[in-house]
Amino acid sequence: MIIDAHCHIWERDLMKGDLADFIDSVIKELEVKDKEKLYDGGIERLIKDMDEGGIDKTVILPIDFEFLYTGGGFTFQAYNDLAGEYFKRFPNRIIPFAGIDPRRGAAAVGELKRCVEEMGFSGLKLWTVTGFVPDEEAYYPLYEEAARLGITILVHTGMGPGNTYLKSCRPVFVDKMAVDFREINFIMAHVGTPWVEEALAVSLKNPNVYVDISAWQGPYARFPMGFSQVLAQAKLMHGGVHKVLFGSDWPLFSEIYSQKEWVEAIKTMTFPAPLQLMGLPEITAEDKEMILGNNAVTLFQIQ
Ligand SMILES: [Zn+2]
Repeated sequence: MIIDAHCHIWERDLMKGDLADFIDSVIKELEVKDKEKLYDGGIERLIKDMDEGGIDKTVILPIDFEFLYTGGGFTFQAYNDLAGEYFKRFPNRIIPFAGIDPRRGAAAVGELKRCVEEMGFSGLKLWTVTGFVPDEEAYYPLYEEAARLGITILVHTGMGPGNTYLKSCRPVFVDKMAVDFREINFIMAHVGTPWVEEALAVSLKNPNVYVDISAWQGPYARFPMGFSQVLAQAKLMHGGVHKVLFGSDWPLFSEIYSQKEWVEAIKTMTFPAPLQLMGLPEITAEDKEMILGNNAVTLFQIQ
């Protein structure tokens, strides 16, 4: 089974106000040839791209953008509803997470309950680039609710787009949460790039912390050695790749690698010779299967 643990959704007609400008600026930052194509982050294209790539299930992550941007009438709840609607249409293909900013206090807890109990969501996405440090105890009621509901928390760690904050995105902020909420599984997005070692350390130390490899398509295409080293280091440090999840950040990097090409890139990758000379382990067929889906099957308890 192949599972993409990190994707986004948007529809151009729904995105309004600053949110539309933000998505616009991210697309411009990427310097892609076909900008129009990236504005299509809707379910039809997603399912088509999944089918092409042989991807069985995809985690979709609406974002709570409202502490940084206005939505011109489109709210964070409406964003969660959009994910709920996609899930309703494709219940076997989609794993929806709720985008909720913990600074909302009791309203955050209420929205999480609504998304999980009424719409069947599997997780919570914390979009730390809007400037909150996720391990503050003021936010613990939200995490207590997540624990009660038995869901996963995906935390953005590492680099974000230009017009967002980096300071709140250190992987180390996941450490305290993971210790205080052992019953919750956490995913650190993007292996915390550029703080890869910090992310791998947090994941090594805490049995309930995973990393996803989304947004590594560009670095891998330009410099395969760097990304290979991340996986080799994870394997060496953790004694295996059981904490590493496949992810794409679709639709953002689909021009660098389509979903099919990104899956193929992982399936066919071998570590460059210098890494082996340095004593780092080789990636095996079994490792690739674990990264592409088996680890996520265990994490999400897919039957
Ligand atoms: Zn993302």
